[in-house]
Amino acid sequence: MPQNKVIIAGGGLVGSLAACYFAKRGWTVEVYEKRPDPREERNHGKRNLRSINLAISTRGLSAINRLDPEVEKKTLDIVLPMYGRMIHNLDGSLNSQQYSVTGQPINSIDRGRLNEILLDVCESYPNTKIYFEYDTESFDYAKKTVTVKNSKTNEISVASGDLIVGADGAHSTARKYLSFFARTSVEKKYIDHGYCEIEMKSHNADFAMKNDHLHIWPRNTFMLIALPNLDKSFTCTLFMPWSQFEAIETDEDLMAFFKTYFPDSIPLFGEELKKEYFTNPKGALFYVKSSPHHYKGNAVIVGDAAHCTVPFYAQGMNCGFEDIEVLDKLLVEQAAPLIDATDAVACKDVKTNMLTPEQIEAALINYSACRPNDSANMIDLAMHNYIEMRSNVNNLSYRIRHWLEGK
Ligand code: FAD
Repeated sequence: MPQNKVIIAGGGLVGSLAACYFAKRGWTVEVYEKRPDPREERNHGKRNLRSINLAISTRGLSAINRLDPEVEKKTLDIVLPMYGRMIHNLDGSLNSQQYSVTGQPINSIDRGRLNEILLDVCESYPNTKIYFEYDTESFDYAKKTVTVKNSKTNEISVASGDLIVGADGAHSTARKYLSFFARTSVEKKYIDHGYCEIEMKSHNADFAMKNDHLHIWPRNTFMLIALPNLDKSFTCTLFMPWSQFEAIETDEDLMAFFKTYFPDSIPLFGEELKKEYFTNPKGALFYVKSSPHHYKGNAVIVGDAAHCTVPFYAQGMNCGFEDIEVLDKLLVEQAAPLIDATDAVACKDVKTNMLTPEQIEAALINYSACRPNDSANMIDLAMHNYIEMRSNVNNLSYRIRHWLEGK
């Protein structure tokens, strides 16, 4: 009996993790990624991915650990743990708020490097092939086919498999086609705030601020945050209403704004501040909730393709990684009902590549029964946490409660 084949649309963070999991479980894996191979781009010094970092927490690490504890180790080798928030008050004073009474951190990681680790792992399996610079243009979930276009030659071809996984991010085409086939409902909402990244370079070959904290300048209706990078820089992100971005038109406007709201950051940014602010793109923020996430046993969407959140709870990728962990457990349950699928060690060698279409469908029904609800709750928490981060952390009562909890 031939083994099952999966077609994965999108080789970003979640798509590459999904590919690793399916490869480990014995499937033939084909990944189609629209962008060039990020590893080659980096090697040639013309990397087009912006090196935004993000926070990986226990949720995301758990999914990597289940895949392979060695891959989790490789991931932890490139993180900077952040044990708390460092609040920058307007008068320049600082206030450290620990994240956990037991000293657990969240971890700052370079998104590009994490993606590269996962792509390397994925390609270490002989049953996997990643096609870079291939755009997945349309999906026929009834026939289990994906029409792909090679963006270098414009050649169109059709890929087919036993299962199609849509991991093509927030503006997903896979999700659009799922609505046609599975009547997937989609709720998309833009918030009235955007973001701009500003790099804070290292100072005298060291970090400009404490590197074991996530720094926040909360200013009630907007905020600046900063996460450390391994090269001793910080990636800072300014989140604020679009009207405020639009009001800053000149260097003078920018400096007046920073002098009023983030005066202690000006010497830390130096002259680069103006260039960074005016050169770097301003990004929109929105969330997407969708349900169901699957069509029969033929197709499923994961990561931002299925649920996209505003970033204030730092759980978008973490939630996407959890999708893959949950999907794997559900497929393992079908393949080896006598083994505890939640026990990563016990089911380490289970293969899911011989599942029947009916078994895959049973797993996907269970997947859609839990993930849309879980991710929708995460999105609501993230919307709430924007108010927490930009405002509540300043309240005296909040600070007293936080201090007491630490006692
Ligand atoms: P993506 O990372 O968007 O990857 C999708 C991939 O699909 C891309 O490689 C893309 O090129 C490819 N693709 C798209 N269309 C096609 C197509 N038609 N054909 C082929 N390939 C295609 N999350 C956290 O967990 N922690 C954080 O701290 C955090 N911070 C964030 C900060 C900001 C400012 C933002 C905007 C997001 C943040 N997130 C964070 C969210 C996180 O970035 C996403 O949840 C995560 O990238 C989702 O991964 P993904 O693989 O589903 O989608």
